Amino acid sequence: MRTLRTQVVIVGAGPSGLLLSHLLSLRGIESIVVERRTREYVEQRVRAGLLEHGTVEVLREAGVADRLDREGLVHEGFQLRFDGGQHRLPFTELTGWTTCMYGQQEVVKDLIRAREAAGGAVHFGIDDVALFDVESDAPRARCTVQDEPAEIIGDFVAGCDGFHGVCRRSLPAGSFTAYEHAYPFAWLGILAEVPPSTEELIYAVHERGFALHSMRSPRISRLYLQVGPEEPLADWPDARIWAELRTRLAVDGREGLNEGPILSRGVTAMRSFVMEPMQWGRLFLAGDAAHIVPPSAAKGLNLAVADVRRLAAAFAAWYADGTMELLNRYSRDSLAAVWQGQEFSAVMTSLLHRFPSDGAYEVRLRRARLQELVTSRASATAFAENYVGLSRARLVAGGE
Ligand SMILES: Cc1cc2nc3c(=O)[nH]c(=O)nc-3n(C[C@H](O)[C@H](O)[C@H](O)COP(=O)(O)OP(=O)(O)OC[C@H]3O[C@@H](n4cnc5c(N)ncnc54)[C@H](O)[C@@H]3O)c2cc1C
Repeated sequence: MRTLRTQVVIVGAGPSGLLLSHLLSLRGIESIVVERRTREYVEQRVRAGLLEHGTVEVLREAGVADRLDREGLVHEGFQLRFDGGQHRLPFTELTGWTTCMYGQQEVVKDLIRAREAAGGAVHFGIDDVALFDVESDAPRARCTVQDEPAEIIGDFVAGCDGFHGVCRRSLPAGSFTAYEHAYPFAWLGILAEVPPSTEELIYAVHERGFALHSMRSPRISRLYLQVGPEEPLADWPDARIWAELRTRLAVDGREGLNEGPILSRGVTAMRSFVMEPMQWGRLFLAGDAAHIVPPSAAKGLNLAVADVRRLAAAFAAWYADGTMELLNRYSRDSLAAVWQGQEFSAVMTSLLHRFPSDGAYEVRLRRARLQELVTSRASATAFAENYVGLSRARLVAGGE
């Protein structure tokens, strides 16, 4: 068996694993990344697109934001539609912070190019990773690299392998507590080759279910529909998707939606998950491997970037002078931010969606909450601070 040595073994080349590898290399720390899928697959995987101000700053500091700064669409507010009317929430006016629309797959492409340019080791198509000795000071991953069995030994392992990855599943029973919640609906998301019908995101609350109009570029629209939890895609031909979007996004009975070829589609379960703690021995978990949120508040990618920034700083401190303080605090500090993201995601999910159990009473309560949001500056500001990530930044700063 071939033996490869590195400082940090990173499992998963999604945004978390790639960014961690890049941030470590900027501090002179070596890593080897092993990824189950092919490079083409991870570069095309359509997922998140709303980057908080803090996420953009991390990518800028890491020197991987040139294209993002050129092509990302900066937003200062969003539209909220309910009861046939439209209201604007001017989050930048309320908080001073903007958001940026830039596809997650573009962030991934930029990071892979940066790793490539720096000669970083990223191995794609490795589908048999198994972890050993993570409680020792020589944790290792065994897998097949370039058709040869290999053992990759590091000082640490970073589990950045997403919700369905192998790292969390490698932990012994009882080593962590899982907190979970499943929603009784899902999102049907499409990517369409058509200029967005709107400059700002539109969140539409409708009696038939929620709809979201988002975008990835001036040519590509991203749209979502609330659907049943196990909805078969076959039940949603193009014409039905567009008709439903037109209905749910209409204002004052008027429909105005640009339609075009659908490039990809998928159904995303709406669920929440948090593991506590996010560490076991020398295995540290980050991003979706440790926690997921429903996509309603667009927090998943942003929480993942925040974890990785904290973890990179903690590894750097250990390599600089052997201090364990930041590594020991990693899980606690990350979880404080994660739970805040969970809470806001749950608030936004219940505000926007129709639940199967809703009666007339719940519908009226939701309307009252929406009215409060668009008529009270105090409520709008509190909401906006969470939406742009300012509340979390404040929480983290208070904890440092
Ligand atoms: C449809 C959809 C829409 C979303 N919208 C938003 C949004 O608007 N804003 C937002 O902030 N977030 C959003 N999210 C969430 C966001 O995409 C995730 O939070 C983000 O991908 C987390 O990054 P990650 O690197 O931690 O995990 P992942 O992106 O899941 O990456 C994990 C990587 O590990 C690899 N892997 C898995 N198992 C193994 C293994 N055994 N061995 C080696 N490699 C492995 C996977 O192939 C993958 O490349 C959305 C998610 C979905 C599904």
